[in-house]
Amino acid sequence: MLVFRQLFDPRSSTYTYLLGDDASGEALLIDPVFEQAPRDAALLAELGLTLAWTLDTHVHADHVTAAWRLKRRLGSRIAVGAAGGARGADRLLAHGDRVGFGARHVGVRATPGHTSGCLSFVLDDESRAFTGDCLLIRGCGRTDFQQGDSRALYASVHAQLFTLPGHCLLYPAHDYNGLTATSVAEERRFNPRLGGEVSEDDFVGHMRHLHLPHPKQMDAAVPANLRCGEPADGALPPDGPGWARLRYTFGGLWEIDPDALAEVAADVQVVDVREPAEFHGPLGRIAGARLVPLGQLAERAGELDRTRPVVTVCRSGSRSARAVGLLRAAGFTDVANLAGGMLRWRSEGQSIEGGSE
Ligand code: FE
Repeated sequence: MLVFRQLFDPRSSTYTYLLGDDASGEALLIDPVFEQAPRDAALLAELGLTLAWTLDTHVHADHVTAAWRLKRRLGSRIAVGAAGGARGADRLLAHGDRVGFGARHVGVRATPGHTSGCLSFVLDDESRAFTGDCLLIRGCGRTDFQQGDSRALYASVHAQLFTLPGHCLLYPAHDYNGLTATSVAEERRFNPRLGGEVSEDDFVGHMRHLHLPHPKQMDAAVPANLRCGEPADGALPPDGPGWARLRYTFGGLWEIDPDALAEVAADVQVVDVREPAEFHGPLGRIAGARLVPLGQLAERAGELDRTRPVVTVCRSGSRSARAVGLLRAAGFTDVANLAGGMLRWRSEGQSIEGGSE
């Protein structure tokens, strides 16, 4: 079965796409964003997928690709368009190539126009295509820099995308209005720049008068993307805060496993957010834990030491996840949730204070 996810970066309004083959566990990411690499790595881990490839549709001007960062962190390989001129890729793609993930693949189509090196990726069964900044939902990418060429873009859309089956779903690299997907049939009819009876000259006239502002991140993003997202200093951002072995979740939370907490228990504040009857009840508690029931945590946060990391604990890990959010809102930066709570702490044989067998 195909695993498919559409992910969004709110800062640049970029869509990243995860495609996975659940039988083999292999996946690829299309247009990953540098700052979102921890989120994407967390999702892959939670879905049990191995990242085989990152693909970029083009040398982006509005965000930095996570290709290099994910390669360093997960061992994935980097595939980019040969015509884009980027250095540091494992594979340079050209029209007609295929990139496999497990038993599935995407086909590569050259769709220049927004940039001279733009690619679109078409899923093997032509049920979905990923159009980058060539074709957007009821729009298209700009053609006024990076060797942009309106006539080339018109030809790409008509020859490479509008020729796909009408039911083929199209997923762009961006949308600025919250739209998520479209189809070939819809864009053939309703794309105001490229659909219906719009001629090449009509399109060129439309594009010539867009008068768009210079993208804010362009001067930093393009040079970085020409290195497949490697920072100028070559430094890999840290994977986590560093005060313990933590795990970032797709839900946006730092978690700590029982064995990792046992290693650092002397150096952190363990805050148990259960009710008093539970704290003194049969499940027992972690030695040294401070009882602050969840309902009192916001008003009593001042009792905690802001200079030391906090681990929150409850019965199963749910109320303590809420406690992490409350403490972050109160200005605590180093906060993690004990994954699985006291139930998992006990089942993994960690030491208990109080409680009963
Ligand atoms: Fe672009």
